[in-house]
Amino acid sequence: MKTLLIDDDPFLLKLLKQQLANLGFAEVITHEHAKDALVALEASTEPVELIFCDLQMPEMDGVEFVRHLARIHYAGGLVLVSGEDQRILRTVENLAKSHKLNVFGILNKPVAPEQLKSILADKLNHTIRPARPLPRLYGPDELRQAITNRQLVNHYQPKVAIDSGRVTGVETLVRWLHPQDGLVFPDQFIATAEEHGFIDDLTQAVLSNALYQARHWQEEGLMLHVAVNISMVNLASLEFPDLVARAAAEAGVSLSNLVLEVTESRLTNDPLASLDILSRLRLKGISLSIDDFGTGHSSLKQLRDIPFDELKIDQSFVHGACRDASLRAIFEASLGMAKKMGMKTVAEGVENQDDWLFLRTTGCDLAQGYFIAKPMPAEALVNWVAEWEGRFSI
Ligand code: C2E
Ligand code: MG
Ligand code: MG
Repeated sequence: MKTLLIDDDPFLLKLLKQQLANLGFAEVITHEHAKDALVALEASTEPVELIFCDLQMPEMDGVEFVRHLARIHYAGGLVLVSGEDQRILRTVENLAKSHKLNVFGILNKPVAPEQLKSILADKLNHTIRPARPLPRLYGPDELRQAITNRQLVNHYQPKVAIDSGRVTGVETLVRWLHPQDGLVFPDQFIATAEEHGFIDDLTQAVLSNALYQARHWQEEGLMLHVAVNISMVNLASLEFPDLVARAAAEAGVSLSNLVLEVTESRLTNDPLASLDILSRLRLKGISLSIDDFGTGHSSLKQLRDIPFDELKIDQSFVHGACRDASLRAIFEASLGMAKKMGMKTVAEGVENQDDWLFLRTTGCDLAQGYFIAKPMPAEALVNWVAEWEGRFSI
């Protein structure tokens, strides 16, 4: 595996090279200057598959180097190394991830052989990703057609009670079953629907399918809350609460089984109109949930003014919180505030057993994430619930 090491300290380069040689890495090239590494990387005919980069270097530092890696669409693994405080390492790690770089992990200097081994063991089982194809963007006409032709389908992801394991509800996540491209995810088309004025049609389609599905589950004995994500654009139309109420009546589902999720970062646009609509939704008995909490900048005043019932702590503060004191601090602050305001709390992005065990110590109400179940087609849910509840022997 072709590997590059970049550090301005020649002694540390030698040491890390030796540690990697002990783990069987033969093809390791070292650079004292990030600039030289970049030139070598761009000129290399064979792809570089792994890079270790120090953060603090004269001339080009690690942050600048990361920016260049993103520019050249580097697709291999990246390990950040630093003698600085963990929080700086984490910040740069997040930055690199938001550039969509494949970050294997962070290492503190001096690099402990065990730490190095565990990062590599975790990651090297996964094959190195090929260069990422850019996600396709879809035109408004194609998407409008897809809605008319019923190519949008709902997947459902369970929400479970952390203390008892009981499945209390599901979140509806829309997918586009594209005739050529297969399953297309909402990040690739929601914004288009918002910009071109047909997010109302999209939401109606998703909502109506979800409500009919809820009715169907009820008939099979599964009483579930069904959550639907809505866009701020939906909240600009004064008829929205009545449309929702009509859709529920048509499906024969009580409004008290419906939860609408609004993303926190979008909340600020037009506070007055949305306050009117949100209060009317609440008055009809629909629950309101604030989604991705922690990623927006809602003021405490907004939280006080809008009658939210539920707060979903964003996955970036849940996954890994058990090992990271700063994430844990944000998680606990969000949880405490929600509880004081009488809101139910949901942890998103519960990806592994460590996340789950951590949550059990926190008093958070509900959990959602790949560790429990990935979003699934409606037909799969009944069997999944039986299997999950069997595991909990409820
Ligand atoms: P969201 O509402 O915060 O939904 C959670 C997203 O996290 C989903 O992505 C889900 O598949 C993913 N997820 C669940 N568990 C885990 C986990 O353990 N780890 C990780 N890394 N991710 C997890 P998805 O389905 O791609 O949806 C993305 C976003 O698109 C949603 O974020 C929501 O804001 C939006 N969206 C989805 N459906 C609709 C819709 O019908 N209408 C509107 N307006 N927006 C929608
Ligand atoms: Mg959501
Ligand atoms: Mg979310």
